[in-house]
Amino acid sequence: MAGVSCDACAQLLEGYSEGTLVDDERRTFEAHVASCDVCAGLVRDYVAIPRIVRDATDVEMPHAVEHRLHRLLSLAMRKP
Ligand SMILES: [Zn+2]
Repeated sequence: MAGVSCDACAQLLEGYSEGTLVDDERRTFEAHVASCDVCAGLVRDYVAIPRIVRDATDVEMPHAVEHRLHRLLSLAMRKP
């Protein structure tokens, strides 16, 4: 299976990152990415996303901020 469009490649991206592609699909995907700068960049970005999201959601709200937020909220709710 030679020559897959960038569209088809993008559709395989999610499965590729999750390791759910069958061998044939994965080979097709990798062959395209190896010869297509656009999709290679896409893969780099896509692979980086879960890490970025994990980093972002790992951060807990500092207690001081949480405290201030609660106070602001309770003040705001007390207003007529
Ligand atoms: Zn492409």
